[in-house]
Amino acid sequence: MTQKEKISIVVPCYNEEESLPIFYEEITKVSKKLKEVDFEYIFINDGSKDKTLSILRELSKKDSKVRYVSFSRNFGKEAGMFAGLEATTGDYVAIMDADMQDPPEMIIEMYKSIKKEDYDCVALYTKSHKGYNFIRKGLTNCWYKLIEKISDSKQVPGARDFRLMKRKMVDSILSMREYNRYTKGMFGFVGFDTKWIDYEAPERVAGTSKFNLGKLIKYALEGIVAFSTKPLLISAYVGMLFCLVAFIAIIVIIVKTLVLGDPTSGWPSLACIIIFVSGIQLFFLGIIGMYLSKIYLEVKERPVYIVKETEKDNK
Ligand code: UDP
Ligand code: MG
Repeated sequence: MTQKEKISIVVPCYNEEESLPIFYEEITKVSKKLKEVDFEYIFINDGSKDKTLSILRELSKKDSKVRYVSFSRNFGKEAGMFAGLEATTGDYVAIMDADMQDPPEMIIEMYKSIKKEDYDCVALYTKSHKGYNFIRKGLTNCWYKLIEKISDSKQVPGARDFRLMKRKMVDSILSMREYNRYTKGMFGFVGFDTKWIDYEAPERVAGTSKFNLGKLIKYALEGIVAFSTKPLLISAYVGMLFCLVAFIAIIVIIVKTLVLGDPTSGWPSLACIIIFVSGIQLFFLGIIGMYLSKIYLEVKERPVYIVKETEKDNK
């Protein structure tokens, strides 16, 4: 008998005590429908403060398919996805949110099309973003437009982290060992043939979004710094433009003073110019600082996450 193929499902969880039992029930139904494949579920407890860990302990005791990695504190979803991918042993790997915004039954369709159509990856994107308020929707759209213009790695607007990948693609993502991880960009960077499926993302089944505006802005900036050096180039161009403007202004003033005998007067205009130019300088210094801080964190080579407990400690 040939060995069955295996799908590993990676689920980062942060305070998901309400969603987890529902997710587990649904994914179990899917595994029963897809009898021709084995499943393993790898839950990452990202330093949750609620009962997420005890639910995972219970689930792993009663179901050998359930594995978990519990962090020593909250390291963020990116670290969770990385730890999850490292723990997988399947031929195919899917990353899913615990809140049912990535519907588990989609796995069946994704698996069938990856098998039949010979893609390396089947990924989902959504235009609807139900449950996001209009500010978040607007900012998300603007951000995708910006990233399309300045990023070196292709990103599909509305792309979610939810995707089913072949082992080769997972290994290539794991071969990227950087500390500042931006997985959405990495998917594009590693290439491979990806099939995109449009779907309507439902609302969160329970609990609230773990990403507030501050976290989202940080994430968006990380996405830019991780896959684009264009802001540095823009600062150089702006610098050149300002030099040109200053040069023209000097010539105008000299001509006005010497030829027309009309010296330029007034310190208010001078003060405004100085404040404006120093503002621009500080702004670009900040951009350089952002890259510098990433290098600083990268050279320290700190671990992306720290594990406190896994299902093996719970036997
Ligand atoms: N998540 C995580 N660590 C965090 C924040 C979120 O593991 O620090 C998980 C969370 O439990 C969920 C997924 O990442 O499974 C997506 O989070 P959420 O649904 O809150 O984000 P949204 O859908 O609002 O973008
Ligand atoms: Mg969600």
